[in-house]
Amino acid sequence: MQEYNLFQALQTDILDTPVEFLKGVGPLRGELLRKELDIFSFGDLLQHFPLRYLDSAHVQHIGDLAPGQDYVQLQGTIVNLSEEGQSFKKRLTATLYDKTGRVELIWFQGTGYIKKSIQPNTTYSVFGRLTYFNGLPTISHPEIEQYNPAQVQAKGMQPVYSTTEKLKAKGLNNRTFAKVLQALWERLTPHAIPENLPEGLRRQYRLMDRFEAYRQIHFPDSEAHRRHAERRLKWEELLLTQLRILRLKLSHHQQQGFVFPAVGAYFNTFFGQHLPFALTNAQKRVLREIRQDTYSGKQMNRLVQGDVGSGKTIVALMAMLLAIDNGFQASLMAPTEILAQQHYQGIRDLVAPLHIPVTLLTGSVKGKERKQILGGLANGAIPIVIGTHALVEDTVKFRNLGLAVIDEQHRFGVTQRAKLWTKNERPPHVLVMTATPIPRTLAMTIYGDLDVSVIDELPPGRKPIETIHRSEGFRPRVMQFLKAEIEKGRQVYIVYPLIEESEKLDYESLKAGYEQVKAWFPDPKYRVAMVHGRQPMDERERNMERFVSGDAHILVATTVIEVGVNVPNASVMVIESAERFGLSQLHQLRGRVGRGSEKSYCILLTGHELSKESRQRMHIMTQTGDGFVIAEEDLKMRGPGDIYGTRQSGALDLKIADIVHDIDIMEETKAAAQQLLTADPMLQLPEHAGLRHSLHQSRNKQAPQWNKIS
Ligand code: ADP
Ligand code: MG
Repeated sequence: MQEYNLFQALQTDILDTPVEFLKGVGPLRGELLRKELDIFSFGDLLQHFPLRYLDSAHVQHIGDLAPGQDYVQLQGTIVNLSEEGQSFKKRLTATLYDKTGRVELIWFQGTGYIKKSIQPNTTYSVFGRLTYFNGLPTISHPEIEQYNPAQVQAKGMQPVYSTTEKLKAKGLNNRTFAKVLQALWERLTPHAIPENLPEGLRRQYRLMDRFEAYRQIHFPDSEAHRRHAERRLKWEELLLTQLRILRLKLSHHQQQGFVFPAVGAYFNTFFGQHLPFALTNAQKRVLREIRQDTYSGKQMNRLVQGDVGSGKTIVALMAMLLAIDNGFQASLMAPTEILAQQHYQGIRDLVAPLHIPVTLLTGSVKGKERKQILGGLANGAIPIVIGTHALVEDTVKFRNLGLAVIDEQHRFGVTQRAKLWTKNERPPHVLVMTATPIPRTLAMTIYGDLDVSVIDELPPGRKPIETIHRSEGFRPRVMQFLKAEIEKGRQVYIVYPLIEESEKLDYESLKAGYEQVKAWFPDPKYRVAMVHGRQPMDERERNMERFVSGDAHILVATTVIEVGVNVPNASVMVIESAERFGLSQLHQLRGRVGRGSEKSYCILLTGHELSKESRQRMHIMTQTGDGFVIAEEDLKMRGPGDIYGTRQSGALDLKIADIVHDIDIMEETKAAAQQLLTADPMLQLPEHAGLRHSLHQSRNKQAPQWNKIS
């Protein structure tokens, strides 16, 4: 059993000491550590884990070097020092050789000093990142020190830390960083890093002691020790994450919610008489889950995950009918005006026979009309409102919002979602719908506090979309194919990439592309419309409408059409410069076709020269239509940071664990967290004091934003 006393608490405080007070840091480096690496305190520094380790006894032969080796450790003599260029373009080159070969060394900064310090006929240890220039192995800004056999023997595995150019300039390079950590370590006693995992768990999962784990991760005795230490620290990090999420979920479940006692006339009439198709079993199941939630007296926080085209809209609509059957208002928020508009038209038409007024509120609704709508929402005259983020502006008040649906929620900022909470005294039920399949591990971290429903079945009669990858040379044939499809009465999307960093160029190539398409498909036989974000809203809508109504054969567009747009007659999606899109985005775009009963195609057009990654992405796209498989691949290839909406969510601020590779630990910790909270929901038992303390600390520090997701 663990004692948690004042003495220990005081010792722990040493980790809060500002980093500049550490020997060898000081104000200047302290400032840089804060700015460059977010290291503020001793504790932050302790969590700056090594990037990798060097076994200093293990030196590579230059003759064995090969591209792709990254950091290398070499030993040899340095010759041929020569300085070139003037003033700030100055650079210093040299050659390092051993018995097996030679490598170029190059410096762009501090050249004078380095030149003077290198001595002839001396053996150096050289460490750095290997690159190849014109086929020659090169290390720029290598770290060099005179070779000292006695020292090397003593050092064993040496940690190598990530750093930045500015820190290097102040003497903290990948290896000297270790000295700072050494100095930190000398200040710490086991009391400073008290055990926080209950002994039972540690025994069950064979986890190293906490203090020892920190020591072994920075200064491992052996590779086996390092592995153990890493596992322990990952385990702790993920356990705390899971505990936080689970506790949040439990607190949601304690939140009082509106009760929808009746399945009333609107729902039943719609279901019985106006539903244009039979619901899939998956849709029915999700509706039952929503029904149970809204009947339970607790607030619903449900995520509906369903691949593109799985029919989430109708589920949302029926949930909204349930709300108005019980005298409440319902809202649906979409990420773009186009999508809000389309939902508005679709839903208005669907519920027309029920005589339910449906209103659209977006940023472009202004003046008197807007005033009227705001009035209607406040006095309850408007039962259903569909809109963009305009819905969460402060001026929008509801009489009794019972259900808030958020479509394609990854496009929303977290704060926008959170605002829905404040629309009532009691929070409405929240239904979040996303078409971006989220890999399991990611879902466990970002949406772990929501209940999840999955629509894992597509409406019947859908034919799989045939996906083809073609390079530029095939363009004439692709255009021929489009003509044939249009001949059959189909419509075609042609999508161009638009990326913030290269926006101007991208718009130019979109416009050029549009002209090219018009040349292939001349007036008046063919009609081509174009939509993009720079058009005035009404022009964009007009063009979109021309495509939706079937007037335009071809829609040239940027990714504004990525989300949600539904034109069942469109059977071909051409993606230009497909290599510039990520996998999830390609999948989303592809989901715009295959919505009707006709066979559909997705054509990925790329240049001839593709990077390995791009080629792999194209390959995956042609091999599978399964959004979940694609999401997993996407996560593997890009890393979690790039996945939509996760960057700002703060949920992935993990220091050592990795949601792609540590799924096993994630599962273990999830189970452990569940067990812990079942036995001791508030973590009040003495043996849980350490965990409670750590949870409290991490909350104070980063206040993860995802706890406001719903
Ligand atoms: P998403 O899940 O991507 O939002 P939508 O709700 O837009 O998908 O639905 C895609 C298309 O499938 C729409 O045209 C919709 O009317 C149709 N649809 C939805 N559910 C069914 C069903 N059970 N049977 C047949 N068609 C359906
Ligand atoms: Mg949708």
